[in-house]
Amino acid sequence: MKRHPILVGNWKMHGSRSSSVELMSSIASGVSMRPVDVALCVPFPLLQLAEETLGSSTVAWGAQTLSENEDGAHTGDVSARMLREFGCSYVIVGHSERRSAHGESDEVVAAKTRTALQARLTPIVCVGETVFDREAGLAKSIILRQLDAVMSTLDEVERERCIVAYEPVWAIGTGLTATPEQAAEAHGWIRSRIAEGSAVAAESIRILYGGSVKPSGAKDLFSMPGIDGALVGGASLISESFVAIAAAA
Ligand code: PEP
Repeated sequence: MKRHPILVGNWKMHGSRSSSVELMSSIASGVSMRPVDVALCVPFPLLQLAEETLGSSTVAWGAQTLSENEDGAHTGDVSARMLREFGCSYVIVGHSERRSAHGESDEVVAAKTRTALQARLTPIVCVGETVFDREAGLAKSIILRQLDAVMSTLDEVERERCIVAYEPVWAIGTGLTATPEQAAEAHGWIRSRIAEGSAVAAESIRILYGGSVKPSGAKDLFSMPGIDGALVGGASLISESFVAIAAAA
């Protein structure tokens, strides 16, 4: 089965009301003819702008986290239903910055994934090891622990509806990228593990690489088997860079 590539921008806590419309429009026109799915995950206050600006384009939009709760007294949180109301298709869950700065455990990431799926959002589930894990030879076990924590709570159909992003923590925002071989190896671990539960899910699920992806290395990365696209932070804030990565995907 041929998986359709997807490129997702993670704007993190960047962007302003005034600058975002131009950046969204420029990305939308730059990628419009590309045979690749494209989505921008923007800060919550920019979701309405995303809906207004990207609504008639080929670019989808989403958020960078959500509450695992449906609604209620959860000050500061945003629910899946709210994201749907603003037209989101995607939501990132378990980004390493959420795991480290907000103490999100594997269990919380799994709960957020289920909440997203119930609301018919596509969760982009991030997994990845730290530099210490890698140096200690623990990369594979950490990645699979994070993956199992989510996948073991889902049925086969739900697994197929997820996207997984392999994001080595040491490569995020650091300028260091995993080599295409390192990325492909980790993607292989992830896909094989999913195949243990369901061969169909393993064939259809899209696995993205994330970590300092730039136009210069994109072609080599996307030429590796099992790499179905990228989750892009810094380079998604520069239209020419993001569009050039889309051209390589
Ligand atoms: C990310 O935050 O998901 C990411 C991959 O960031 P960057 O591309 O800046 O490393």
